[in-house]
Amino acid sequence: MISALLLAVLGPAAPAPPPAPGVSLALARHRSATISEVRYGVEFIVPETTAPVTGTVTVGFRLFKAEAVVLDFRAPPANIGTVRDASGHPIMAMVTEDHITIPASSLRAGANRITFDFTATDAALNRRGDYLYALFVPDRASTAFPCFDQPDLKARYRLTLTIPAAWRAVANGGMESSDSLTSTKRIRFRETAPISTYLFSFAAGRLFTEEADRDGRHFTMYHRETDSAKVARNKDAIFDLHAAAIRWLEDYTGIKYPFEKFDFFAIPAFQFGGMEHPGAVWYSAGALFLDQTATRNQLLGRASVISHETAHMWFGDLVTMRWFNDVWMKEVFANFMAGKIVGPSFPDINHDLRFFLANHPTAYGADRTMGTNPIRQPLDNLREAGQLYGAIIYPEGTDRDAPARTHHRRRCDAAGAARIPRRPQVRKRHLARLDLDSRPALS
Ligand SMILES: [Zn+2]
Repeated sequence: MISALLLAVLGPAAPAPPPAPGVSLALARHRSATISEVRYGVEFIVPETTAPVTGTVTVGFRLFKAEAVVLDFRAPPANIGTVRDASGHPIMAMVTEDHITIPASSLRAGANRITFDFTATDAALNRRGDYLYALFVPDRASTAFPCFDQPDLKARYRLTLTIPAAWRAVANGGMESSDSLTSTKRIRFRETAPISTYLFSFAAGRLFTEEADRDGRHFTMYHRETDSAKVARNKDAIFDLHAAAIRWLEDYTGIKYPFEKFDFFAIPAFQFGGMEHPGAVWYSAGALFLDQTATRNQLLGRASVISHETAHMWFGDLVTMRWFNDVWMKEVFANFMAGKIVGPSFPDINHDLRFFLANHPTAYGADRTMGTNPIRQPLDNLREAGQLYGAIIYPEGTDRDAPARTHHRRRCDAAGAARIPRRPQVRKRHLARLDLDSRPALS
């Protein structure tokens, strides 16, 4: 509403840039100024074999004025089938590298609905024989289906999965219906709250489930662990840690858990510690299912990763950076909150000391190298977003001195003297101004 009013006052945004590889900042800005109220009705048909995943997506959106619209689809042109308007009439869409352009003649100011038949690439679907999981962070949703792949065009998703009959599935929304077909079943999920493309996800396959109720909330854990004793030994602690983190965050932020449900999938050899899709968090199974001989550090590590991902539900998922140049912000908050959340569960640990040891040496280690850079870096194209992750944004961002260093560095850079302040009294003055503890959490 606000952006529509502003546009009415200020006039239309600059013309759309011509489609180019990746998602440029110029394209993202133009789209967020001219497109709103995005909804995806998306269906994926997942075969049991290695045959391609196919699907259909209907993209609904409001346009500020009738002009050509560029969607992202990082797949060979042959992977796009028919493109249709809301009446079912075929559209002559232009397919270029990474994009599909819908001509202005097929669009109008106000509500629009375009349907695409497509074949997904496997780039972000992590197909592992008898299961798969989508992992679209930071810019990979468009390798699976046509979409507006940028974080500030949040959308509601209504997902349908057709999967082998023996498989289970989990997604951001709760299950609405499941219909058995001959050798497959078709599962419809409820529409999600508005979320960014990098947070949309689903998994399906031969999965085990464990369920529990905590504080009136029903949790389902999906996993593939065949050692049932190991699962039985760990599951109560895993559910307890999630419930404790949600309680703490609801109390701290004054905002109730902002999504419909909270399920998670413990994935064998997952490439990260965890990923914060609302309603469908992915974890590395090894971080959740610990051995009987687990060390105190492993127990604390498990509590920390659960608290980190749960903190993201508020810091990252509900309140999201407009562009991935600010990815550090959500990671800083998730790490910072996790440090606070795990404290009460481990009362005999010196958490200030642990926080220091866990973050400061790595942060200073990164900062003293010639390769160091400001925490917030320019990002002209989303295809470079993956390069922003690393030692600079996790421990460095969580290290409370680091914003002072970056803040000062930016000022020095602007003055043409790229020097980092090393004198303790200079650093201390900045710290006093930049104490994250005293700042409102959601400002
Ligand atoms: Zn994180």
